[in-house]
Amino acid sequence: MSRLIDGKAVARVINEQTALDVASLLDDGIVPALAVVVPTTDPGTAWYVRSIARAADRLGIRCLIEQLDAPTPTTIADQLAALSADRDVHGVICQTPLPPGATLANLGGAIAAAKDVDGASPTSFGLLAAGSAEAFAPATAQAVVEILRHEQIPLAGRRVVVVGRSMVVGKPAAMLLLAENATVTVCHSRSSDLPSICREADVLVAAVGRPGLIGADHVRPGAVVIDVGTNPTPDGGLVGDVDEAAVAPVASALTPVPGGVGPVTTALLLRHTVVAAARAAGPPA
Ligand code: NAP
Repeated sequence: MSRLIDGKAVARVINEQTALDVASLLDDGIVPALAVVVPTTDPGTAWYVRSIARAADRLGIRCLIEQLDAPTPTTIADQLAALSADRDVHGVICQTPLPPGATLANLGGAIAAAKDVDGASPTSFGLLAAGSAEAFAPATAQAVVEILRHEQIPLAGRRVVVVGRSMVVGKPAAMLLLAENATVTVCHSRSSDLPSICREADVLVAAVGRPGLIGADHVRPGAVVIDVGTNPTPDGGLVGDVDEAAVAPVASALTPVPGGVGPVTTALLLRHTVVAAARAAGPPA
């Protein structure tokens, strides 16, 4: 039976360091601030934004929520650019879903690279692909690697399969895993015989958005499974992409949904904001 990985415990370790760094910034008169642009009334997004605001509050980070009414691609981009120009704001993120005609790939460019704490801009993506430490990786993609690191699961030379190739999760996760010297395969909706590719994995990362897509036949005995998927259920709950009951007897370790990747993502978003604030302040005198 697999071990359930406690994402909240991983988040706690990240938050401890963030709290120390916030205290040091506050000593210098700097209040780290994250601006969240919300161009939707989607209840799931509203729930997520509230959870970011609560976590920020606990750490002493100011969280500005910019709810947009009747947003268009132009008004969203303008808002992102205005927040990027605000000296008191250190991180800027844009929530989804976006209105018709808007894509994060297009809008992300309106966020200044130094404040792009969720790696949304094509510039951040390019820097990440080039192996630069300057850019912030999308927090969810980085959460995958942070969890594996915290759990001391080796990556160098191991086979990793990432299911999903989005700009926010699948592709950046693959790049980060490659940087850890894993041998990475990326699958998508056109991959043929997904189960047999997944069974090659020492570490399987599911980032699709299809509840229960990953079953026991996708998992090699003893593999580690990271479930990024968050799929709302009719009763108001949340499930991942992995059929937990089927996979648990096969995998050696598994992240639950909720309580796995999610808390680590939020912790990293806030960590990036504090790093951005420290960078903006410059080196200590
Ligand atoms: P997305 O943009 O919709 O991308 C989904 C990816 O899955 C695409 O690459 C798609 O392939 C692939 N796919 C779809 N059906 C498939 C199938 N049957 N077999 C194999 N691949 C398939 O989604 P996303 O933004 O990356 O998010 C993925 C999941 O992660 C969602 O559940 C989302 O809610 C969750 N998420 C969680 C967090 C967190 O903090 N925990 C953060 C962000 C996202 P194509 O490219 O061929 O279409």
